[in-house]
Amino acid sequence: MSGGAGAIRVGVLGGGQLGRMLGLAGVPLGIQFRFLDASEAPPAGAVGDVIHGSFDDEAALDRFCAGLTVATYEFENVPLTTARRVAARVPLIPSERPLGVAQDRWTEKCFLRELGVTLPEFALIARAEDVPAAIARTGLPAILKTRRLGYDGKGQARVDTIDDAQRAWASLGGAEATAEQFIRFDRELSIIAVRGRSAESRFYPLVHNRHEGGILRVSRAPAPDHSPALQSAAESIACRVMDALDYIGVLAIELFEAGGRLLVNELAPRVHNSGHWTIEGAECSQFENHLRALLDWPLGSTTARGHCQMINLIGEVPPAEALLAIPGARLHLYGKAPRSGRKLGHVTVLAENADQLAARGELVRANVRLS
Ligand code: AMP
Repeated sequence: MSGGAGAIRVGVLGGGQLGRMLGLAGVPLGIQFRFLDASEAPPAGAVGDVIHGSFDDEAALDRFCAGLTVATYEFENVPLTTARRVAARVPLIPSERPLGVAQDRWTEKCFLRELGVTLPEFALIARAEDVPAAIARTGLPAILKTRRLGYDGKGQARVDTIDDAQRAWASLGGAEATAEQFIRFDRELSIIAVRGRSAESRFYPLVHNRHEGGILRVSRAPAPDHSPALQSAAESIACRVMDALDYIGVLAIELFEAGGRLLVNELAPRVHNSGHWTIEGAECSQFENHLRALLDWPLGSTTARGHCQMINLIGEVPPAEALLAIPGARLHLYGKAPRSGRKLGHVTVLAENADQLAARGELVRANVRLS
């Protein structure tokens, strides 16, 4: 995929499905893609060149950076040393700062608390002796999460007693962890925001997310029955976060709605699984808007086109024919080998109204094993 002089080349750290969908959004706009990924045949290989190398392979990083217009990341555990090396060569957007905040739960929570954003009570557990004081702060039940490298519910445990908490901390490997107040939320929501280089921001409508075992299963967008006040509360949280980080690109914020209030669970400084519905369900997708923001192009409309449900295909893929026969259903496969608990693709169902969406969603779920 080599291009002529003046070609726009976007480099993406990570070549998973998010990279693949960035490519699928950007190729029609004439953008060329290069991905850095250590795996043999990453999903993004279908839409651009892949530099096969680990994030600490300096020669691979040199080849990755050569001639890029801009670099971004699709994976939030990119080491900060890698991000800094890339940023010294080409503009890295979003910058390494949001990456540093989002990949360390303790830093993230302290950052959010300083902004005055509401979030579950939390405390740091660095040593076994810290457990009682941490639990005194969060109350019980609580959730213990590893400070770093947790995702999709991995590296976390719910605890009901102090003894449980001691055991859970040891079972997480004795690495630094955060304890969090367990929130009996009414539902989980997310807000996907995009901020351009001129600081203009746009927001997609709130999304209602259902997780199982810590993994996102189903998103519904726009979230049913959400008031304009709830939407603007979520937008105001996103604005505070983006302004504080001088953020550019798409940012996702996972939220708990409890008693009409929003609490922040976590930030993702990248395109997000709960925004996949925007490919068909919004006027301009999160992927295209991320690219527009990086390249200082006008942002696209974030308005929803109808009612959407996005269902993740996890561990196995049902026969494509069965899914494609469902009216309004759009299938996305990521080209990954099946493995238990692995996100292999998703189906987005579009409908004109809530009843039609419920009926079509049922047809999809009849084909998809949800747990
Ligand atoms: P996380 O990896 O932090 O996004 O957590 C994965 C899932 O675990 C969330 O989407 C929630 O369903 C659940 N969870 C995480 N933290 C809490 C909490 N403090 N209270 C209740 N449920 C939680």
